[in-house]
Amino acid sequence: MSVELPEALVLAEQLTISILEKNIKQYDIQDSQRLQKIGFMNKDLKDYDRLLGCKVKSISQRGNTIRIQMSKKMNIVMCPDYGASILYHESDESLPKKYHFKVEFSDGTYLTVRQTGMGLIYSATDTEFADLYVVKRDFSETPSPVGEQEFTFDHFSELLDAKGQNVKAAIVGKTAIVVGLSNAAFQEIIYKAGIHPKRNTSSFTSDEKRNVYDAMKEILNARICSGGKDNWLNLYGEPGRHTPVMGPNMKDKDCPACGSLIEKIAHGGGHVYFCPRCQK
Ligand SMILES: [Zn+2]
Repeated sequence: MSVELPEALVLAEQLTISILEKNIKQYDIQDSQRLQKIGFMNKDLKDYDRLLGCKVKSISQRGNTIRIQMSKKMNIVMCPDYGASILYHESDESLPKKYHFKVEFSDGTYLTVRQTGMGLIYSATDTEFADLYVVKRDFSETPSPVGEQEFTFDHFSELLDAKGQNVKAAIVGKTAIVVGLSNAAFQEIIYKAGIHPKRNTSSFTSDEKRNVYDAMKEILNARICSGGKDNWLNLYGEPGRHTPVMGPNMKDKDCPACGSLIEKIAHGGGHVYFCPRCQK
């Protein structure tokens, strides 16, 4: 499943609690060819040697991208876009058999990363960090939908008006006016806002814009406060507590608001579940 901004934020907070100030003693890489080929791991595996002896200085996150900033101007960059198992281990007893990247810290604790979909695990200097595609995408001028005061309703409204496009394109992917969201958040937001998935944003009334903005904030904040989605595992292997209000979990169910059967359509490179009555 996909990881979106709320889950990336939860991971960054948990990493801060668990690995700050730790020194990298060793690392191991397995099964990396496919990820290297598509540019999601360093082409030259020797690049990871640069992490040895580095101390974790800070952890930051924007959109789906997590930056572990270290001494010696080095970084580990992770972007678990399409699903990853990123786990912290108190000892070697809980280490998984399969991983793409494993770090052993000098105190005998570990971090393992296994990409279950497409996603990035990079060793980068501060200079290389700035050039990474996911960094340009997420550590960018594009607003974050939560956690930034500048992202007011007026700003959101201006960005929506600047390009009339399908509401999914406005929320998800390359043309999105916010960072960090994918199809899962999209389905929840527009259900909550009462907007049909095929609508074009140029047809939105000011009330509809407000509803989308409020729904986005509410859904994302709820997901963050609940520690992520309930089908996602955090840094300690525990599931989040947020059950999506709309999405694949609503298949063959009735809308809790109006009782209509939830429908599914193929739209914008994925399936979208929605209520045909509540979403206009
Ligand atoms: Zn309904």
